[in-house]
Amino acid sequence: MKLPVRPDLTGIEPVRFYPEQPVAVDCLRLDKLHPQLSGNKWFKLLPWLQAARAGRAAAIATFGGVWSNHLLATAAAAHHLGIRAYGIVRGEPLSTACLRDVQALGMELLFVSRSDYRALQQLPGRLPLLPDNVFVIPEGGRGLQGIRGAAAMLDTVPLPGRYTHIAVAVGTGTSLAGILSAAAPHQQVIGVSALKGDDRLSEEIRRWVPGKDGQFTLSFQFHFGGYARHNTALLDFMYQVYATQQIPLDFVYTGKLFYGICAMIKENYFSPDDRLLLIHSGGLTGNRSLPVGSLAY
Ligand SMILES: *Cc1c(COP(=O)(O)O)cnc(C)c1O
Repeated sequence: MKLPVRPDLTGIEPVRFYPEQPVAVDCLRLDKLHPQLSGNKWFKLLPWLQAARAGRAAAIATFGGVWSNHLLATAAAAHHLGIRAYGIVRGEPLSTACLRDVQALGMELLFVSRSDYRALQQLPGRLPLLPDNVFVIPEGGRGLQGIRGAAAMLDTVPLPGRYTHIAVAVGTGTSLAGILSAAAPHQQVIGVSALKGDDRLSEEIRRWVPGKDGQFTLSFQFHFGGYARHNTALLDFMYQVYATQQIPLDFVYTGKLFYGICAMIKENYFSPDDRLLLIHSGGLTGNRSLPVGSLAY
């Protein structure tokens, strides 16, 4: 499938949160793949798009909120592939910079109430409000296809075996499940949840990736009050990372991941011989929802 992503631009960069940091940390810059089709979204989408094409679908449809990296990535992919796309958006009709970009890429939007949004996601296959032969991609690309796609993120890492821990931001947990399925037995996968959540997600991950129970941990300590919640400590931290490392983070996902891992390093969660890989899962769309001037990048 020909898409304008640039895997050659991604790569590993060392991260030093503070001068006396006792463990080695690298960041996998998947945010550099493409401005809209960035990070984990591209990896999770690919098998879904291939399935849609194999099934000769007339169009694709997927779900998201008004600042959804997933909607934007899906719209960009569909635009480049010449596939019709529908976006089912949670909540009252609203025009955000993200949704305007999504529409400019040709995606048709359908706004539904929060309860309908949930109900629609339970319907397997066809959605009653869409024409026939529309291939439905679950929210966030979750599910087995998304996991398979996310597993390929590790293929872009030179010498992946040298890392003792791989850390990733968690929304649906699909990216974490993919990484877990591809991780070597000596590696621990750490998920930092962007949502309040609870341990139901751990159970789901165990079902998705059987036989790797002891190989992952989910932290619910760094969500800053819940999905898309934040405070000045988080924004200041993100600014510091940008100023010292030139790594732009978003306050919904990767900001919380980096903040959480930095806090865990300070609490001596890791031993000096450990080597960490932080996945930069891309998606800076959420930052555009902040008041102008909140972030210096
Ligand atoms: C969507 C998203 C995530 C969450 O990924 P899941 O596979 O749903 O857990 C993490 N980081 C960024 C930047 C995202 O856009």
